[in-house]
Amino acid sequence: MWDCGSHGPGSNPGGGIFGEEMNGKNSLPSYIKKRVRSVLYKLKKERMPDYITIAMSGGKDSLAAAYFLKDFEGVFGYTLEAFFIDLGIEGFSSESKEVVKEATEKLGIKLHIIKPEKSLPQIIEENWEKIKMGQIKICATCGLIKRYIMNKFCWENYGEKGVIATGHNLDDELAFMVSNIYGQNVGYGFKGSVALGNSKEKLCSKIKPLAKVREAKLEAFKDVLLKKGFRTTTKECLLKDGNTQTKHKAFIHAIEEISKKFKTNNFATATLHYIEKAHKNKEKDVSWRKTCKICHYPTSSKDGICSYCKLMRR
Ligand code: AMP
Ligand code: ZN
Repeated sequence: MWDCGSHGPGSNPGGGIFGEEMNGKNSLPSYIKKRVRSVLYKLKKERMPDYITIAMSGGKDSLAAAYFLKDFEGVFGYTLEAFFIDLGIEGFSSESKEVVKEATEKLGIKLHIIKPEKSLPQIIEENWEKIKMGQIKICATCGLIKRYIMNKFCWENYGEKGVIATGHNLDDELAFMVSNIYGQNVGYGFKGSVALGNSKEKLCSKIKPLAKVREAKLEAFKDVLLKKGFRTTTKECLLKDGNTQTKHKAFIHAIEEISKKFKTNNFATATLHYIEKAHKNKEKDVSWRKTCKICHYPTSSKDGICSYCKLMRR
């Protein structure tokens, strides 16, 4: 049975932290667990890190990722830690933070809370003219800040010994691909479930343990987690308006409906294979990447100052 008290950091010997429903080979937890395991094996083939740090948002996906990564901690021999980025969004960030605090306590995972030097509302205020002109988008800006902070946090805390995990699922991957397809950028930025970092560039490796799990499965798994006493954030981010990902997901579902009629009910898998191939054939040359003159983290910016430093007006 579930016993949250016996799972302090590093105390999971790999015996499994799940209830008896994990025993069913065809159960939903087993289905997800199998996919998480395959991502960890892929990572192990490269190098198993000493630390995996899961980026937790308070949502169902990163909670599920943390849950399964905790179960595999003893098996693969890493230490699982977690972090939450507090962007200071009123009526959203504080609730999410509490949810993450509770979940990590229950799972016995050490939590780091990170507050950027400026809150998202402050950044929006300072860049309001550009936002109004459509030159920068709020969700994209938020994504940029989170990616930057994730990497900086991981690098400063664990260096080469750490890997970042996020809760991205298969539908997130597909939505990202769709935006790349019409942006004529097939394969661009697509790194799959394991993306290797580069210590010379202070880039931590990243994994997406749920990259092969559909959103609907995770939605169903959320009920399992709720029954076990976990909580997820109930509020939607108020700044989410205009986020294109939701539209891309609706587009994918519409295509899937059509493909069902042709009995080729595997649009998601087929698209993933296609993009993975496209990505493999792409040149892996990153010589264009520079080091930011201000923060010394990598940037593709021609003037040598990264977007994060520009946003923060450093
Ligand atoms: P999103 O970009 O909101 O779809 O989130 C994608 C993934 O990023 C989540 O599954 C989390 O792993 C991570 N993430 C999102 N927001 C936060 C946050 N505030 N703090 C830490 N990780 C986050
Ligand atoms: Zn910089």
